[in-house]
Amino acid sequence: VSRVIPVETFDLVIFGGTGDLARRKILPGLYRRYVAGQIPEGSRIIGAARAELDDAGFRAFVAEAIEEFVPAKARDAEAVARFLEHLHYVSVDAKGTTGWKELGKLIRKDVVQAFYFSVAPSLFGDLAERLHGNKIATPDSRIVVEKPFGRDLESARALNATLAEHFAESQIYRIDHYLGKETVQNLMAVRFANILFEPLWNARHVDHVQITVAETVGVGGRGAYYDRSGAMRDMVQNHMMQLLCLIAMEAPYQFDPDAVRDEKLKVIRALEPVTPEDIVRGQYRASKDTASYPADAENPNSTTESFIALKVEVANWRWKGTPFYLRTGKRLRARASEIAIVFKEVPHSIFGDEEGWRENVLSIRLQPNEGMTLSVMIKEPGPGGMRLTEVPLDMSFAEALGEDGADIPDAYERLIMDVIRGNQTLFMRGDEVEAAWAWTDPIIAGWEAKGDKPKGYDAFSSGPEDALMLLHRDARRWREIA
Ligand code: NAD
Repeated sequence: VSRVIPVETFDLVIFGGTGDLARRKILPGLYRRYVAGQIPEGSRIIGAARAELDDAGFRAFVAEAIEEFVPAKARDAEAVARFLEHLHYVSVDAKGTTGWKELGKLIRKDVVQAFYFSVAPSLFGDLAERLHGNKIATPDSRIVVEKPFGRDLESARALNATLAEHFAESQIYRIDHYLGKETVQNLMAVRFANILFEPLWNARHVDHVQITVAETVGVGGRGAYYDRSGAMRDMVQNHMMQLLCLIAMEAPYQFDPDAVRDEKLKVIRALEPVTPEDIVRGQYRASKDTASYPADAENPNSTTESFIALKVEVANWRWKGTPFYLRTGKRLRARASEIAIVFKEVPHSIFGDEEGWRENVLSIRLQPNEGMTLSVMIKEPGPGGMRLTEVPLDMSFAEALGEDGADIPDAYERLIMDVIRGNQTLFMRGDEVEAAWAWTDPIIAGWEAKGDKPKGYDAFSSGPEDALMLLHRDARRWREIA
């Protein structure tokens, strides 16, 4: 059973507190942390957004969000009522003067102060400026910024520069919620708290790595936003890059925010530029029941990719010769995210050409069924002679953590608590984000220069045929999306 260590008393302001992300993730997550006993009674959560609400109105909004997004068995009317007493609301205009004086009066200077920017990135600069101009922020306050962090190197640099005018890097928490996932952190524990894996964790023993983030949903609803972004910007530059870094990085000298982030940055800097032959872009077609990507995006001539597969090489001593294959897309066969470390063949098979033989694979599943399995070869049980069979060594930690993993905090819950603790390990540093864009930009510029058109793929398939070829031509194959 997990231990819960309460954080310090805090005032957390959620700019965009009436928005979709606040409703679905941030506020229900805070409720769960409250019920878990992690939020001290003196703490306050202050919604700040454009809507004209009072405390009662905001509390009603949050009560509904909890009703909708917290499973019934984790809800308790009395606990909800107590939680709501910690909530306040101020109507604020990020671009104007409304509300700032009230907010300034409400915020206490003698507790941890955090400001969550859950608004459009175009408002980040305004918020930073006004927090400062109205003397609300202190040198100890923290700001949390949501994705997307820029859409290319230039805009990311500009955003970093704007935030840096008012806040030190040690105050800025750039969210990548993938880093808050239990499994992703376990990846570090498995690598660096065991002697078993690290000696094999290199190009001598790892044949290749596959990272898949597959979704079944289309872009309907947020099609207009997505159409300006595409899979490369929306998933690869941030989330998949972070996963790649955690797999590829050297051991940090200690589990310290900058030590970890220094090692991740070195990986990003070591990435080879990707040539067009090593990339497949795709766009989903209509199915019997679902619309095509261009229809969902309301842009009939869209050339934005809803799928991408690419072969990435990390040019350093550890990884030279071991490709990382990345693949992500919408409207794929299943909702499944997995990192697979595929090990090499044994140097010599004493069993002859054994049909049952398979490579060892360490599979790290992010969803569904978070957990890890290591496939190992054993003798098929019984008297049938020496036949090999593959069995999974199951390291699911949902069970280890209590019944059906219900105690595992959602990524947002954990990350918000880390902000209050002042721990930046699981947040992206400004230079990391810029380095990732510096690698991404030329790839996107290449498509734009030649007017690249994505390949069509059937809805609920594994993506375009060409993506299969990307591995076939290297005599490898993708793992099933299941
Ligand atoms: P939303 O449009 O649902 O909500 C926007 C919020 O901003 C509202 O509360 C609105 O009142 C407030 N707002 C708008 N203009 C304002 C102004 N001038 N002054 C003060 N407040 C203002 O947006 P969202 O989906 O909640 O997204 C918020 C942020 O989170 C965005 O940066 C988005 O990219 C990011 N994000 C959202 C999701 C998601 O699932 N919704 C996922 C990842 C990242």
